[in-house]
Amino acid sequence: MKDTLNRIEAAALQSAAEVVSEAELQQVRARYLGRKGEITAVMKGMGQLSAEERPQVGALANEVKDRLEAAFTERQNELRNQAMQLKLVSERLDVTLPGRRQRHGSRHPITQVTEEIVAIFAALGFGVAEGPEIEKDFYNFEALNIPKDHPARDMQDTFYVSEDVVLRTHTSPVQIRTMLQQQPPVRVVAPGTVYRRDSDITHSPMFHQIEGFLVDRTVTFGDLKGILTTFVTECFGQNTAVRFRPSFFPFTEPSAEVDIQCVICGGSGCRVCGQSGWLEILGSGMIDPEVFKSVGYDPELYSGFAFGMGIERIAMLKYGVNDLRLFFENDLRFLKQF
Ligand SMILES: [Zn+2]
Repeated sequence: MKDTLNRIEAAALQSAAEVVSEAELQQVRARYLGRKGEITAVMKGMGQLSAEERPQVGALANEVKDRLEAAFTERQNELRNQAMQLKLVSERLDVTLPGRRQRHGSRHPITQVTEEIVAIFAALGFGVAEGPEIEKDFYNFEALNIPKDHPARDMQDTFYVSEDVVLRTHTSPVQIRTMLQQQPPVRVVAPGTVYRRDSDITHSPMFHQIEGFLVDRTVTFGDLKGILTTFVTECFGQNTAVRFRPSFFPFTEPSAEVDIQCVICGGSGCRVCGQSGWLEILGSGMIDPEVFKSVGYDPELYSGFAFGMGIERIAMLKYGVNDLRLFFENDLRFLKQF
């Protein structure tokens, strides 16, 4: 019996030395010291021994058990340390490496210019309104005095969702929606995304406009000129020359296009301004009485003006960008400059 115990002890120590993980060690421990383990089996068999032998064998069994417990615990610590060392080596950080720089994001130049324009008009007392990009024909055309046979409805320009629904081709429908909800006086700018079937160096099928209008009693063309001249000088600089040129829009009468002195050549003539020294930046005019009628305003009582401009165009002129498409390519090397 004593020999058996010594043999078991030697075998257990051997097994413990050979394992390479804590999980394996647990199996060895169970095999020798567990409830169905070999040492336990020996102790259960002690009933067959004589009364003299029993205490001696019992004492030895307990000693072996204690020694094995101690050996297993020691081996367990050893394995745990080895695993930790391995982990430390495999996960080692080289703290002398240069750090990875955090890149700061920034607002898109179109967003920046939009906010700048809105801020200029906010200072002049204008609120901000928004409307849907998928728009009913009524708001996009009909109410703006653009009937079904009008050339501005050319199929080449408009994305039709259905016969009666379009992707809005301008921000002007917001004007109609606002006037239907609100009685004069109103003073609102409406920035937003618009869509046209057009794509080249100066046109994109999706671009941004900002629309503005003011309606009150006794609003005159002089008010229009005053507000828009203030806008131009705030946006492009105090010394920027402005001119108003007669034009035509279905929803305004009279209408005027607003030009600024060429920001590239200062007015002496260059390729950008077509040697004219002037750049067109926005369209404007006194709101047509027909438009007032379609929103239920009394044209005898109220007058007003409206204007609209392409935000990309303003951004191109402000920053000297010569290709509209750069704004939509999301090339960080381009966007980082703003
Ligand atoms: Zn020029």
